[in-house]
Amino acid sequence: MQAHTKRGEVIFREGDPPTLAYLIEQGRVEVCTETGGERVVLAILGPGDLLGEMAIIDASPRTATATALDDCVLMPVAREQIQERLAGADPIIRGLLQSQLSRYRSALDTFRTAAPERDGAPAGAPCEAVPGLDKMRLDTQLREALEQRALEVCYQPIWDIALERITGYEALIRWQHPDHGPVSPESFIGLAEETSLIVPVGRYVFDTVVDALVRLRSHWPAATELPFVAVNVSARQLEDAELLEYLQALTQRAGVPTRCIKLEITESLTLDIARAKILLDRCHAIGVRVALDDFGTGYSNLGQLHELRFDTVKLDRGFVRQMLHEPRCFSIVQAIVLMIAALDADIVAEGVESNEQLHALREMGCRYAQGYLIGKPEAAMHPPE
Ligand code: C2E
Ligand code: CA
Ligand code: CA
Repeated sequence: MQAHTKRGEVIFREGDPPTLAYLIEQGRVEVCTETGGERVVLAILGPGDLLGEMAIIDASPRTATATALDDCVLMPVAREQIQERLAGADPIIRGLLQSQLSRYRSALDTFRTAAPERDGAPAGAPCEAVPGLDKMRLDTQLREALEQRALEVCYQPIWDIALERITGYEALIRWQHPDHGPVSPESFIGLAEETSLIVPVGRYVFDTVVDALVRLRSHWPAATELPFVAVNVSARQLEDAELLEYLQALTQRAGVPTRCIKLEITESLTLDIARAKILLDRCHAIGVRVALDDFGTGYSNLGQLHELRFDTVKLDRGFVRQMLHEPRCFSIVQAIVLMIAALDADIVAEGVESNEQLHALREMGCRYAQGYLIGKPEAAMHPPE
């Protein structure tokens, strides 16, 4: 949450324990220290500058006092946000930072003892732009959105080509940023993956999906099976050993069969076959199905298909886009559809945008289609008409 600080207000004092750093959004902040009874201005910071991060980095008391020179708007950055990134940083970078910081502190001590003779040396010194501050700002805002449960989950229908009806959905997260409008999951999921923030984001998606299934059930015809919902999970989320227990407890509490949940994982996650096998076994043991996402974009290692019992393989939309113009691509899609069927798995063709594509896929015997032709991601799942 942005903090509004009035002109003249002290943001923190020398000697205070470090709790937060701040990104200055508006106004100027004076950073000063007392030496020999004199006030020495160390810096004047302005919009785009980071304030108070040093005490956070090495967990020491504040070495200066920060006062608002104007009415300011500050974006707090929590200690964990900085410390988690440090913990995940290259140890050499961490070491360099620590050594710079201790050098700065000892220079500050020298400066303090000698200050009366040195007239306000670094006052107003231009501050170098710190790379990654935009990221830090986005990170704070994403945490806020999560706390306020302001992230949305949309549902894109998956069409059963033979049954000619929707039998599943893919859950896709959305973020309506207060200033920038919709932010693509491709950029903010990557950001969340840089820290453990992806763990609560992922749990939030599970919570929302299970809630949506509970709501849907009350309108769903009893004779028809509830649709499945495919949820994307990333490598970092799967490092959370309790993720599956969490999902199992959640579905049990809600009385939703675990069969309704499918996890979508990408190829890069399955490069470590032994680990992927354990994951698949754990999912299958609780009745959760697993799909291999974006098949054909990366290594498309056939060893993965041979050794890992995926329930579903999702053919990347790049193939569907080209298959009607490129005969070779058409042949590849045809061969993949046959191969996946022979392995007793389902196949979902992604990115189906035209009737011609759907027709060709039906002829090939492809089981499912997903794409704008069937439906765009929407705010809710709907019972059959
Ligand atoms: P994805 O898993 O490959 O998801 C499919 C993407 O294709 C979605 O983009 C969807 O809106 C888009 N799409 C669907 N049909 C069509 C079509 O006919 N034509 C075209 N051109 N595009 C289509 P979106 O929603 O922007 O999601 C992007 C990616 O973000 C997803 O790619 C997925 O990797 C990731 N993502 C989304 N939600 C989550 C989440 O909850 N957790 C994690 N870990 N990743 C997520
Ligand atoms: Ca997906
Ligand atoms: Ca995909």
